[in-house]
Amino acid sequence: MTSDWQKLNERIADCQACDRLVKHCHLVAKNKRRAYADQDYWGRPVPNMGPSRASLLIVGLAPGAHGANRTGRMFTGDRSGDWLFKALHRAGFANQAESSSQSDGLRLKSCVITAVCHCAPPDNKPTTEETLRCAPFLDQTIQELRPRVFLALGGLAWKAVVKYARQHDWLSGPQPKFSHGSFAQLVIPRRRKRCWLLGSYHPSQQNTFTGRLTEPMLNEIFQQANQFISDT
Ligand code: SF4
Repeated sequence: MTSDWQKLNERIADCQACDRLVKHCHLVAKNKRRAYADQDYWGRPVPNMGPSRASLLIVGLAPGAHGANRTGRMFTGDRSGDWLFKALHRAGFANQAESSSQSDGLRLKSCVITAVCHCAPPDNKPTTEETLRCAPFLDQTIQELRPRVFLALGGLAWKAVVKYARQHDWLSGPQPKFSHGSFAQLVIPRRRKRCWLLGSYHPSQQNTFTGRLTEPMLNEIFQQANQFISDT
């Protein structure tokens, strides 16, 4: 029987709500990068990656054109993913550090990777309308998982989780500001349970090539995430 988690991921992969993004994903899949000319690109919305039960929900921005849009798996097949999966493996959230394709044997443990926008956008920049259109998938992902820690990779992901938390009365007081290592406590009123929002710079080449984000900095983020999970 198909689980609710599988159904959600199938709905994401089948979505065609954003004409511009659907066309862009198809176009990239058709034109391909020369290095991947012999590969079949996924070329569609990329579903969530990971098991249906997880303590950690990582929220990225959007699939890379020749990474996740090629392989069909979040962060898989590009430099950002190389950084992320190495750190996840070091922190015990992944069974291996390498991530190259859907058949590479990689499994996440108690961790799911999602995105604010499930389709690869031109110039890595979804429009506000596109992220709003995709937001119900993030809402449904959170409702399915009920994670103990949200790790927002970048300011847009941070804002999306804050918005969800406000809408569901999980957050009161001043707006928490994003920075690398910043965090905010969220309280689920009806269940009287708390969870955490943690921020990290996105492991994009723009950040890793310039030294804005280093491996020790990313390791510390996952240590903090593990600490929050064991404290919650
Ligand atoms: S960005 Fe989200 S809402 Fe828009 S087509 Fe892709 S999956 Fe659908």
